[in-house]
Amino acid sequence: MNDQAPARKARPRPKRGEGQWALGYLEPLNKNEQSKKDDNPLNVEARIRGIYSKRGFDSIDPADLRGRFRWMGLYTQRAEGFDGGKTATVPEEELDARYFMMRVRSDGVVLDPAALRALGSVSVDYARGTADITDRCNIQYHWIEIEDVPAIWERLGAAGLTTLEACGDSPRPFLGSPVAGVAKDEIIDGTEALAEIKRRFIGNPDFSNFPRKFKTALTGHPSHDVAPEANDVSFVGTVHPEHGPGFDLWVGGGLSTNPHLAVKLGVWIPLDEVADAWEGVASIFRDYGYRRLRSRARLKFLVADWGVEKFREVLEKEYLKRELVDNPSPQAPIAQGDHIGVHEQKDGNFYVGAAPVVGRINGQTLLDLADVVERHGAAGARLTAYQKLVVLGVPPQAVDAFVADLSAIGLEAKPSNWRRNTMACTGIEFCKLAIVDTKERARQLVSSLEQRFPDLDTPITVNVNGCPNSCARTQVADIGLKGQLVLDDDGNQVEGFQVHLGGALGLEASFGRKLRAHKVTSAGLDDYITNVVHAYLLEREEGER
Ligand code: SF4
Repeated sequence: MNDQAPARKARPRPKRGEGQWALGYLEPLNKNEQSKKDDNPLNVEARIRGIYSKRGFDSIDPADLRGRFRWMGLYTQRAEGFDGGKTATVPEEELDARYFMMRVRSDGVVLDPAALRALGSVSVDYARGTADITDRCNIQYHWIEIEDVPAIWERLGAAGLTTLEACGDSPRPFLGSPVAGVAKDEIIDGTEALAEIKRRFIGNPDFSNFPRKFKTALTGHPSHDVAPEANDVSFVGTVHPEHGPGFDLWVGGGLSTNPHLAVKLGVWIPLDEVADAWEGVASIFRDYGYRRLRSRARLKFLVADWGVEKFREVLEKEYLKRELVDNPSPQAPIAQGDHIGVHEQKDGNFYVGAAPVVGRINGQTLLDLADVVERHGAAGARLTAYQKLVVLGVPPQAVDAFVADLSAIGLEAKPSNWRRNTMACTGIEFCKLAIVDTKERARQLVSSLEQRFPDLDTPITVNVNGCPNSCARTQVADIGLKGQLVLDDDGNQVEGFQVHLGGALGLEASFGRKLRAHKVTSAGLDDYITNVVHAYLLEREEGER
C-alpha cells in the first residue's frame, strides 16, 4: 500500500474535479499535497531525533520545517519584533524565529500529578515558563529549541503524553468531556471510545494524510461541553428511545473564514461502535475530501455539497457496510458546559472547574497544581474547550481548602463573568498569521470589564482572535472579535477588530452577525464593549441573550 493513499481502485477521472483521491486524483495538485506524497509526514520524527536535534536549526530541510514538523506538534513561532501589518506581503522565512511553538495533546485524559509535573517542568526547563491552555485542550509551549525536542518528548512520554499529530493535516487533538465518568447527570461515559480512537488511529500512516486538519469531539454530557458544532466529527451523548444511551453523530463543523455548524446525520452510534464510525467518517474525508485548493479542503465543504443523505449513504454502504440506527430526536443541550465552580460527582467526591485568564498559565502553575491536587487527595485535572480546567475527585471535606489553594495559584473557581467567558487565541506574540495582539489585550479587557460590570446577571461571552482564522471561535460568541487593521480617528492603520455580535453554541447555536460599521480599534475595545453591554442591559427583553 502507498503510505499516502489507501489501496483503492481509481475510478475514471472527471474533467476537472477537486482533487479527490477516490475519483482518481492521486497525483498532487498543490505543494502541500506534493510534500505529503514525497514523504509521509510521520517520518519526520526520526529526522528530528537523529539529525536535526543534533545538528541544530540550520540543518532542517525547509520542507520539514514548514510542513512535516506540524505532524509532531511543532510550528516555528513568529520572529520577535515583527511588524504585524506586513504579514500578507512578507515571505514565511522572514516571519520565522529559530524557536518553536509546541502543542501537547490531552485528548480528554485526566492529567494526574505526574503528568502535571511533566508538563510544568518542560515549561520551566525548555519553554521559558510558557504554557497556554488552548481551546482544543492542548498545553501549548513557546520558545522551544530543536536541540531539546527529544528530551521533551522523553519526559512527556514517561507521563503518557504526546505531541504526535497535534498539528498538520491529521487527526488533531480530541475534545472529550472534562467530566466524563464522574458527572451525576452524564448520559454516557465516552472515555473508552475516545481512548480507542487514539489507540487505533493516532500515528497510523493510513490516517496521517487528510486533505487538511480533522477535528474530533466526543461528549456524553448533556451540556454538549466540547463545542461539537465546530468540529469535523462529533459524537454527542443521546438516549435512543429503544436502544438507550449512545451517541448522535454530527459531521462537517468548522469556523475559520467560511464557517459551518456541524450537521446531524440522524444516526445513533453505540459506545462500542464509535471508533468504527470515526474510521468511516475519517476515511470519507481522506478519500473524497477536496485536495485541489487548501481553502476548500475541510470536510465542511464536502458535507455542504453532498448533503446529509448522501453522506450517510456513502458512510453506510462504502465504509461501514451496514445500515446505521436512526436517531430521530437527539437531546437539546442543557445550559453552559464549562463546568466552572464546585459540583458533586456521582461517587460523592466533587469536581471543581477553575479559570485562568484567557487560558494563560505557566509552568510553575502546573507544578503548583500538581502539589495542590496531591495534597488534597484529588485525582487530577482535565482541560476544557473553553481554555479552562476541571479538577476531579476532590474529597468532600477538602473542597473549601482546595478552592482557596487553587485561587492562590491563579486558578479561580468563582471567576467573574468576564474571566469565565472570555477566550483569546495565540495572537501576534507568537503566531505568524496574526494581525493583532490578543492574549495581553484580552487580559486587560477582562480586568477593565470586571471593574465596569462587576455584577453582570447574564453570561456574555467574548472571543478574541488575531486574524480571520477563528482559532478562538469568533463567530460563536456573544461578542466575537476578528483581528484586522482598522483606521483610527486620524486615518491611521492600527490594530483593531471586526465585531460579530450575537453568536452562540449550544441551545441557540448560531453565528454572530457581522455588521459593517462594527469595527473597533484595539485601543477603543473596552469602551466599545461597555457601550454594547449597556445597550443590552437597557433594552433586553425577558430572557433575551
Ligand atoms: Fe493565529 Fe489567527 Fe489562529 Fe489567532 S486566529 S492563533 S492569530 S491563526
